[in-house]
Order: sequence, then structure tokens, then C-alpha cells
Amino acid sequence: MTALDDGIELARLVPSGELDELVDSIARALGGALAIFDRAGDRLAGSEAAGPPRRALEYHGAPLAQLAATGPAADTSLALCAELLDLVIHHAHARELAAATHEEAMRVTFAELTEHNARLSRAVARLEELDRVKSNFLATMSHELRTPLTSVIGYAEMMFEGLAGPISSDQKDYLTTILGKADQLLGLITAVLDVSSLESGQLALDRAVLSLGELVASELATFAPQAGRRGIAIQLQACDDTAVVGDRRKIRQVVSSLVSNAVKFTPDRGQVGIAVRRGPLAGPDDGDAEPSAIHLVVTDSGIGISRELVPKIFEPFFQADSSSTRAFGGTGLGLTLAKAYVEAHGGRIWVDTAPGQGSTFTATFPAVPPDLAAADRDPQGDGA
Ligand code: ADP
Repeated sequence: MTALDDGIELARLVPSGELDELVDSIARALGGALAIFDRAGDRLAGSEAAGPPRRALEYHGAPLAQLAATGPAADTSLALCAELLDLVIHHAHARELAAATHEEAMRVTFAELTEHNARLSRAVARLEELDRVKSNFLATMSHELRTPLTSVIGYAEMMFEGLAGPISSDQKDYLTTILGKADQLLGLITAVLDVSSLESGQLALDRAVLSLGELVASELATFAPQAGRRGIAIQLQACDDTAVVGDRRKIRQVVSSLVSNAVKFTPDRGQVGIAVRRGPLAGPDDGDAEPSAIHLVVTDSGIGISRELVPKIFEPFFQADSSSTRAFGGTGLGLTLAKAYVEAHGGRIWVDTAPGQGSTFTATFPAVPPDLAAADRDPQGDGA
């Protein structure tokens, strides 16, 4: 119920100080005594000397107040007071109406907002549930696909090695293709599984001291045939001590994603350069200048990436230009995993690029102090 529903109440609408002032000023000007009563006959302002109420005052047809006056100009006082009171009430009522309308509008807006919020909360809960179901589905499917695929690869390898009897060179070629494609499929399934474990926050690192330079050199051998066929020169420059503490499989995947993208998005007869060197751990915009990290820098002379797409390329399943990447293959998961893996090691990853100008991806990993690196080196330092 609002103030509007109560009817017009003089004492509520006009502060008693204002009524006192009104009565005093008329009495001073015209002499005699003057008083204002509410509609029930209780005196609100003026003195007893004004006597009992003599004149009733209405506002929009409803009783509002009563007035009393004595003295030589009593009638004039009553008329003047009635007129001024009518004016004052009119203004006060208009103010009250405006305030009540505003309050009602706020109440409606608040109710609408509350309802809107409730709908949003329900939508968010539903999306979270769907996201969880999707992650579970990805994890289960990837796992179920990997098991039979591992058998396919195992049996194909056994046939390739002649364990099931001699094979012709044609059969060898076919088996090589089967093994290559099965490996590609296994990589894809593993990436999906890794992304789903990232989403459920289960990224665990299996740490050992390893040489990043040696790991990169061994990984490059995988890309040499593909790059060679397309006339792309891959150059590696690694400084002496590139020891880091990290998860070999995950760092290998970072290297593989960056190098395979560099080769994939570089036209035939282009250049890919890889540097492994010391530098600060922080990113290019941070102040840290201590060379406390090992940088993996992969530069290509390829198609580059436009500035507005740079933040997106690290999002899952994002491909800057789906038509060209379809031609090149890929899932849009490589950089998502690379970023998660680098950051899990305490490093940073970023790219300097422009369309048509090539790209330089840099990933940093915290370096191991030289004495610890020498004492604790992983025996499989070449990553073989
Ligand atoms: P994928 O390579 O499997 O498509 P990534 O997550 O590795 O997925 O990369 C996401 C997208 O970023 C690529 O599809 C491509 O559009 C862009 N990109 C990544 N590396 C490069 C590069 N070296 N040059 C140009 N574009 C790149």
C-alpha cells in the first residue's frame, strides 16, 4: 500500500513548521489569532485564542482541514489562510505523487531484475551441467577409442616387423601408411583427452631435469621429412646449458605444436628457425629482466595472424582460417594445450606476428640452477 492510497492527510503532507510559519505570518500581517486543525478537529498550528474551527477546507472534494480565526480581520485571515493552504497542499501533493510513482517504478524494475537474475542463474547452472557432461563424454570416448587403437598399432607393427610371416614391399608401404594414420589418430585422441583433463582441473606434471635443447633437437627429426618435401629449411640454434625441470611428454608436446604449426603455416621453400636460449621468465610486457628461464623461440616466414585473432588462437578448437587449416589439417587444440602446459610449469607463452609477416612464438620455462642441473641430469636427456 502506498501513501497515495491513504487519502490526503494534512499533517503527513506539510511539515508542522511550515504550518506554524503560515499562521504566524498571516496573524502578524492582519492581527488577531489564527489556527489550523486537521479534519478530525485536532489543532496542528496556531493558538487557542483563535477559538473553535469555523471554516472547513476541502481538497479535490474531500475534507482536508478546518480553520479558526478571531480579531477584527478574522474573515480576511480565514480566506487568505485557506487560499495559501490550498497552494501549499497542491505542491506537497504533487511532490508526494511524484515520489510514489518513482517508488512504484523502482519496485517493478527490481521485480523484473530479480526474475531476470533467477533466469540467468538457472541458465548458468544448466550450462555448467552441460559442460561437465561434455567433459565426461570427451574423457570416456577418448579412453574407449584409445584402447582398440593401441591394439591396431601393436598388430600393424608386428606385421611390419615380419612376426606374422614375410611381407612384400607393397604390403610394407601399406602398413607404413596404416601406422602413420593410426599415430595421427592416437595423437588427436590424446589431445582431446588432455583437454578434457585440463577442463576438469586434473593437470599433473611428472617432473625431471632435462635439456630443452636436446629435446628440441630430437623432436625436429620428426618434422625433417615433411619440411624437406616442401623445401622448408628448419634451423636450430641452442645455447649450451638449457636444463629445465619439467614433464618430458608435455614439453615435447609444446615443442611439437609450435614447430608443426610453423611448418604447416609456412609456404613451400619458406624458413623456420628455432632458438633455445636463456632469458627472463616473465612475458614481454613484464619488468623481470633476470635471465632465469630457458626460452623456446619458434620463428616462421609463414602467413602470420591478424592482431584481433591473436588472443583467440589459444582457445580450444579455434582455427584462424578454417578453410586454409582444413587444407593443412589440425584440431585447434595444439596451442590450448601448449599454453596450459607452459603455464603449469610456471612459464609464459606469447606470439609476435602480423598477417603476411610470419610469426614468432616464445615459450619460457624456469631454468634449473647450473649446479643442480649437472648433479641431477635425467639420463634420457636427448628425449629419445
Ligand atoms: P591447429 O594448428 O591444430 O589448427 P592450434 O591450436 O595449434 O591448432 O592453432 C590454432 C590456430 O592458430 C591455427 O589453426 C592457426 O589459425 C593459428 N596459428 C597457429 N600457429 C600459427 C603460425 N605459426 N602461423 C600462422 N597461424 C598460426
